[in-house]
Amino acid sequence: MFVSEALKVNNRNHLEIGGCDCVDLVEQYGTPLYVMDEGLIRKNCRTYKNAMDKYYSGNGLVLFASKAFCTMAMCKIAEQEGLGLDVVSGGELYTALKAGFPMDKVYFHGNNKMIEELELAIDHNIRRIVVDNKEELHHINKIASEKGKIVNISFRIKPGIDAHTHDFVQTGQIDSKFGVALENGEAFDIYETASKLSNVKVVGVHCHIGSQIFDLAPFELAAKVMISFIAEVKEKLGIEIEELNLGGGFGIKYIPEHDPIEYDHYIESVSKVVKGLCEDKRIKLPFIVMEPGRSIVASAGITLYKIGAVKDIKDVRKYVSVDGGMCDNPRYALYQSPYDAVLANRPDAIKSEKVTIAGKCCESGDLLAKDLLMPEIKVGDVLAVLATGAYNYSMSSNYNRIPRPPVVLVKDSKSRVIVKREDFDDIVRNDIIPEDL
Ligand SMILES: *Cc1c(COP(=O)(O)O)cnc(C)c1O
Repeated sequence: MFVSEALKVNNRNHLEIGGCDCVDLVEQYGTPLYVMDEGLIRKNCRTYKNAMDKYYSGNGLVLFASKAFCTMAMCKIAEQEGLGLDVVSGGELYTALKAGFPMDKVYFHGNNKMIEELELAIDHNIRRIVVDNKEELHHINKIASEKGKIVNISFRIKPGIDAHTHDFVQTGQIDSKFGVALENGEAFDIYETASKLSNVKVVGVHCHIGSQIFDLAPFELAAKVMISFIAEVKEKLGIEIEELNLGGGFGIKYIPEHDPIEYDHYIESVSKVVKGLCEDKRIKLPFIVMEPGRSIVASAGITLYKIGAVKDIKDVRKYVSVDGGMCDNPRYALYQSPYDAVLANRPDAIKSEKVTIAGKCCESGDLLAKDLLMPEIKVGDVLAVLATGAYNYSMSSNYNRIPRPPVVLVKDSKSRVIVKREDFDDIVRNDIIPEDL
């Protein structure tokens, strides 16, 4: 009935998640409210981890791409489920550190890492820095030499596969701010350069071909391209690359029309491709790393809002406004990402009219969904926007000086706050009025 298996209708005819009644949650915590189902997050982690064990003899590591939902509690869950962590900034690394996450399972990505961020990563002996460019390579070598360390690195490669949509094409991706390209020799070059530096050790290759991908084929093609590159580097430079990191990007069901592949199938099919190719090319089976973000947390999350203004513009459009918006979920405004929604206080009401769900920010583009088929909505209804667990809290802002909602984690009919609600004092916390003003 719902796009996410985390949800059901309870005997009070309310929406329920993790055994908690959404109307009760709203009474207890207020709105807007992010709710995350711990059981489904853990189940998703296990699906990936078990697939790595089953199809690749456990010779790999699944990382949670923390940017999808970076909080200390989430780091804890990832750790308990045996996942590693992918971070892309000092702030995400700091969150992991504060959560006590094991640093020997942390990978650091990003196309413009700051010196201080690199120092933080090297000081804490994280498992891998995924180097983006030559400049960064030299920075790392210098910092490592000053600290008397040898840093294990891999490089981000542009494999020339553009898979951001349903279709994918094998050209064009040279035009990306991330990584070094294969087709112009840039990738090969950087491995050669690195092989001559004394304070870095090249152990891996990495690629990440896009997000919300519903196909197996682009991942299989990426694996193929990368294995060929590993073989080339071995043959021409004598460097044995031990680790193949294929990134994330596995699609999830936001709306009923979306039809994602079971997550373990990615690992199954990629394992098969990698094993076959390595045999053909007579190279050692690499350690495989995968970095799912969205597919671990998106379906586990919902956002609850109260309906305020309802504006029916005759023959034009009906707007219903919620007490949040692009400040807690900028994805519609950014990419026109589709969402499904349901009334939490009467989830089985018959859908009878098309409405546009608007936020409270001072922007016409501040929408959460356009022309969504919904039951008749009344002021005071509780609206649940579904599958908001990824890139919602993590992309939230204080635009219009709106405090961020809290995040509540639910499991077995229990709810706990994992991120506190911001208040107006949080909003002005860093403001200063200079004395001479
Ligand atoms: C964003 C990102 C991911 C996660 O992507 P999802 O679409 O959330 O699975 C993984 N690896 C890298 C390098 C990324 O930038």
